[in-house]
Amino acid sequence: NRRVVTGLQPTGALHVGNYFAAVQRCVKLQQQGDDLMIFIADLHAHTTQQNPTQIQKNILELTAYLLASGIDPEQSILFAQSAVPRHAELCWLLACLATHARLAHLPQFKEKSATMKEVPIGLLLYPVLQAADVLVYRGTHVPVGTDQLQHLQVAAQLVRTFHHRYGRLFPTPSPILPDDGSDRLRSLRDPTKKMSKSDTDPKSRILLSDSDDVIRLKIRKAVTDFNPQVTFEPDSRPGVSNLVTLHCLAADKLPEEVVLEAEGLTTARYKQMVADALVAAIRPIRERANELLARPGLLRHVLRHGAARARRRADIVYGDVAERLGLANAT
Ligand code: ATP
Ligand code: MG
Repeated sequence: NRRVVTGLQPTGALHVGNYFAAVQRCVKLQQQGDDLMIFIADLHAHTTQQNPTQIQKNILELTAYLLASGIDPEQSILFAQSAVPRHAELCWLLACLATHARLAHLPQFKEKSATMKEVPIGLLLYPVLQAADVLVYRGTHVPVGTDQLQHLQVAAQLVRTFHHRYGRLFPTPSPILPDDGSDRLRSLRDPTKKMSKSDTDPKSRILLSDSDDVIRLKIRKAVTDFNPQVTFEPDSRPGVSNLVTLHCLAADKLPEEVVLEAEGLTTARYKQMVADALVAAIRPIRERANELLARPGLLRHVLRHGAARARRRADIVYGDVAERLGLANAT
């Protein structure tokens, strides 16, 4: 049985890229019977400065949207990372096995730190905390986008170093890579960029919380090219191909099918079709999430329940680690 561990940062409202690439994939893994642990990565979020009130709000909102998307808090374990202190404790021990050189060379660190005057150590440690997130549950599989593969290699390296010094204890976590275009959704305003929560232009992304009208408006305004035909050519026609990808994800279809359906339509007319598919996919999630958001007590209860279950698992693994390392606080 696979134990899948995955986290989402409470840094803002979920967009369709997050939903199709991360959330919906988790729901599928849950349905196929994987042992799924899904956490709200509030410790990771603090690698960039966060507003405390906003982050509290985001945590409950993310919980509501995860439940509304089909995460079952009994079948899977849903919790906030900070509610299980073992993540941070194991992170410290792993940080003692990691090297500065290796972490400082990771592309994502280089990219994010390039524009900063003062680089927080937490940003450097980000992949080590990610390794701890998985290893503290002896996770076997991690759903990742291609951009996260290097971080998983850091985890594998830490496992090797740990085993070399203290003996075998962890499975080496393997990636579960997306088999469709779902890790490649692009900005609606500039299709050369990826769709992102932190893009300053709200029209660049479709949120799960967007109303039907807003979804339609954003699709209508999506940047395409001067060719009115609908084709799927991600390299030469990223704009219209991104709409095809969105359509496929929303309607669970293949690009060939969608292109055939759109034959003879102009991109303007085709956009209505894409918007219809998105509205149909998003509306039920938004409505369920809104019902749940009216019950913050229930959401907090779900998180407390998940945290209690996660803590029991983490305590066992951490106890083994502490014993190997000769720490005093073995459970
Ligand atoms: P930020 O801009 O703050 O980094 P983000 O939109 O990149 O936000 P993350 O919280 O970094 O979102 O990622 C959450 C999940 O969503 C990850 O699994 C990531 O691979 C996935 N994801 C992010 N952007 C896209 C995208 N454009 N297309 C598909 N999946 C995406
Ligand atoms: Mg990101």
